[in-house]
Amino acid sequence: DATKNKGHIVMVPFMAKGHIIPFLALARHIQQRTAFTITIANTPLNIQYIRSAISTNDTDVHLAELPFNSTQHGLPPNTESTERLPFTHIAKLFLSSLSLEAPFRSLISKITQEEGHPPICIISDVFLGWVNNVAKSFGTRNITFSTCGAYGSLAYTSIWVNLPHRKTDSDEFWTPGFPENYRFHRTQLHRYLKAADGNDEWSTFFRPQIAFSMESEGWICNTVEEIEPLGLLLLRNYLQLPIWTIGPLLQQVSLKGSEHGAGKEPGIALDACIEWLDLKEESSVLYISFGSQNTISASQMMALAEGLEESGKSFIWVIRPPVGFDINGEFREEWLPQGFEERVRDSKRGLMVHKWGPQLEILSHRATRAFLSHCGWNSVLESLSNGVPIIGWPLAAEQAYNAKMLVEEMGVAVELTRTVETVISGEEVKKVIEIVMDQEGKGKEMKEKANEIAVHIREATTENGEVKGSSLRAMDDFVSTILS
Ligand code: UDP
Repeated sequence: DATKNKGHIVMVPFMAKGHIIPFLALARHIQQRTAFTITIANTPLNIQYIRSAISTNDTDVHLAELPFNSTQHGLPPNTESTERLPFTHIAKLFLSSLSLEAPFRSLISKITQEEGHPPICIISDVFLGWVNNVAKSFGTRNITFSTCGAYGSLAYTSIWVNLPHRKTDSDEFWTPGFPENYRFHRTQLHRYLKAADGNDEWSTFFRPQIAFSMESEGWICNTVEEIEPLGLLLLRNYLQLPIWTIGPLLQQVSLKGSEHGAGKEPGIALDACIEWLDLKEESSVLYISFGSQNTISASQMMALAEGLEESGKSFIWVIRPPVGFDINGEFREEWLPQGFEERVRDSKRGLMVHKWGPQLEILSHRATRAFLSHCGWNSVLESLSNGVPIIGWPLAAEQAYNAKMLVEEMGVAVELTRTVETVISGEEVKKVIEIVMDQEGKGKEMKEKANEIAVHIREATTENGEVKGSSLRAMDDFVSTILS
């Protein structure tokens, strides 16, 4: 009976918009199917953000504030999430999340007293492994929600827990969970992981927290069974836990920049973008964006602009100040080749969008042919859901592993370069754009594969008479597991 309350689920995302947003989407997803009461717990400013986000849709979740004072953790006043924090402070934010354990215990205790039993399930972020210990002490189950794909989750988890690159002198390394002959490359490690020796502040946080999360009773992954067969097979073998593939949890409409911590303005008006795209031929435009919190180096930005001009292709580029400057600050002309912006504007070849663009609407437009992306998992899912092949330029987190899978397993991407540390030329940029946007040869193949994946994604989330897609079945299975 969908109208009868089935129990209480408590959710705890990590303190970053990129985590809170998929948690909200998951809450909405669960609520559309079942009558659970859902409480989301987080620090006061994040709760304030969630409150404003849910006021614009009909999600009926309860919110619980966990007291938190950023200055007690060596953070600037009122900083409770990764956005706008300089890189040097991010590790402190991770470590500060450990202080939430005591107030979280009090919350679970209060719910337990009020309802006569503990919540039926606590869903926690993969980075907040301590939640697992709280759940155990109350005799309730803990489920981990990894906002990444299966392959990326496994690579990131295994590399953190094992630090395999410390054990070899070679540039290539193997990490547990992957086949014997499978290799990653040192350049696929983000700089904090490259430097991790087990005793630094990043390791001190990540290694135990991820290990605790590996002890929960199952993982929910924002992915689709049919699109990541290898990643899912390996992750299931490695964790020996149920993995529910309930994705893709996509935004319904593009978030405004201000809602995503990217400055006050929403970037460019949606209408202006669509009008510009409407004038373009089908499958002719390259879309470029590095997600909500990354940017490239000044020299890379120059090379990208040169390569774009030389390629002669049409493009939309969501652009931010380069590394070393406030990425939400004002843009300076000197960061681009002289006269670049006027030339592309006058010829209508390119649309420069400052700070933030309506990504979902761009990717679903018939004129969009390819996406030059940092391979953040949400961007990957949004691109593939629309059958758009990818030019990979991973910058941080698990993005390099996503790129590796897109190239090697899915055949829908070519990698241009990795990280902000490389030197690239306009010529290299032009070459890759031409390969991926070619209507014949490899470009055509990648487009066809991306279209096939889009079909799998659609089918996974559709119900057709008796036949339910895999993501819907996974959600049913998750619900019956926590009710059992
Ligand atoms: N996004 C957007 N406009 C932009 C940049 C990003 O709408 O100009 C959205 C994008 O659609 C995606 C999210 O922000 O949903 C970025 O998430 P992702 O996992 O790709 O990368 P992250 O920002 O976490 O690095």
